[in-house]
Amino acid sequence: MTPAAQRAQLLAWIDAEQASLVDTLARFTAAASPNPPGDTREAMGVLSRTLDAAGLAWRLIAPLANAPNLLASFDGSRAGPHLVLNGHVDVFPCEDAPRWRFDPWSGAVAEGRVWGRGVSDMKNGTLALLFAFAWLARLSDRLPGRLTLTAVSDEETGGTWGAQYLVDHHPEVLGDCLLNAEPGAPTTIRFGEKGALRLAITVRTPGCHGAYTHKSASATRIAAAIVGRLEAVTELPVTMEPVVAQALAEGAAEMDRVHLPGAAEVMRRFSLNLGVVRGGTKINMLPGICRLECDIRIPVGERSATVLAAVQAILADYPEASCEIMNCAEPTWSDPGHPMVRHLADACAQTSGFRPRAIASLAATDARKWRMKGVPAFTYGTTATNVAMPDEHTDIAEWLGVVRTLTLAAHAYLHGGAA
Ligand SMILES: [Zn+2]
Repeated sequence: MTPAAQRAQLLAWIDAEQASLVDTLARFTAAASPNPPGDTREAMGVLSRTLDAAGLAWRLIAPLANAPNLLASFDGSRAGPHLVLNGHVDVFPCEDAPRWRFDPWSGAVAEGRVWGRGVSDMKNGTLALLFAFAWLARLSDRLPGRLTLTAVSDEETGGTWGAQYLVDHHPEVLGDCLLNAEPGAPTTIRFGEKGALRLAITVRTPGCHGAYTHKSASATRIAAAIVGRLEAVTELPVTMEPVVAQALAEGAAEMDRVHLPGAAEVMRRFSLNLGVVRGGTKINMLPGICRLECDIRIPVGERSATVLAAVQAILADYPEASCEIMNCAEPTWSDPGHPMVRHLADACAQTSGFRPRAIASLAATDARKWRMKGVPAFTYGTTATNVAMPDEHTDIAEWLGVVRTLTLAAHAYLHGGAA
């Protein structure tokens, strides 16, 4: 059976099993797994029973008893590359059920869509990867290499007990390449994501009675002056590898189309969000303390040290201010010229008739955890429809296109390797 005949076989299975795919997605969505609180056992049961029905082995790794991570692997018939598939099972909580058209935990199938909390982020992607794994397993005696499936239970609250735990404690999940199916848009392949530096700046002065403004400097006024100066970090020059700059330039129009105009510009710059300003106690007291919490996003190719040095240079003018790093995640990226990008684009062109663009992501995904371990990692998924909003849903026709693309790209990678 040639690779071309295998591709035809895979596409035939996808077509023949559409009803089962949609039914499983509906049941997976109805198995509520909001995080917090993060009990994913019922949802994980849908995945493990689907693997059981396919006759495939799996195991659970559960550093938290309520939030197991599922692993499954098979070897092909000869040596080859190791591809790892990754998705998450936990979803955002839902506190606005009355505003939904369908019960958010129903997995309703209507109007050519599956509806429910987490169906877009990212139960449809995790299930697409599981089905791709099961179909490719049927061809295992004709495939080179190794394929591993990871479905994790902690992504929405940072991933400590999910992907981070796996890459730190189970090196068998690292592989040669990682394919993740977080939503974005089927017209884009994400090869990197911005970093985040979260800073708390505290201004302290003696403070005093509000009528005696000559007695103490005002912490809120100093903080306001600092806020005015901090905006300069968004103008910092950005250093990028030429290959990244070129990919982002080529993907700019698509980024603006998917994420609204301005997205491509924000992607290539440092951005600053003043998330919290807290100062003052009472109108007739002169404030002696003010706290600013700043969320600075770092473009792909840059480092947190660049922007931290700029912030510290500004703060040097304000001896009343101190700065503390609350959290820091460097941006991560993989080579946009990696074979997986080509395999995804070719597969999409073949099955859906358009070539997706390689772009970076504004938000974070678990793919970064593999990149931090030196494994090239790429994300490809459906449109992020109403994620973290009422009426989250997945368009079935679009999803089936993503299922075909992910399956054929994984197949091509195993055959083509990383060369
Ligand atoms: Zn997600």
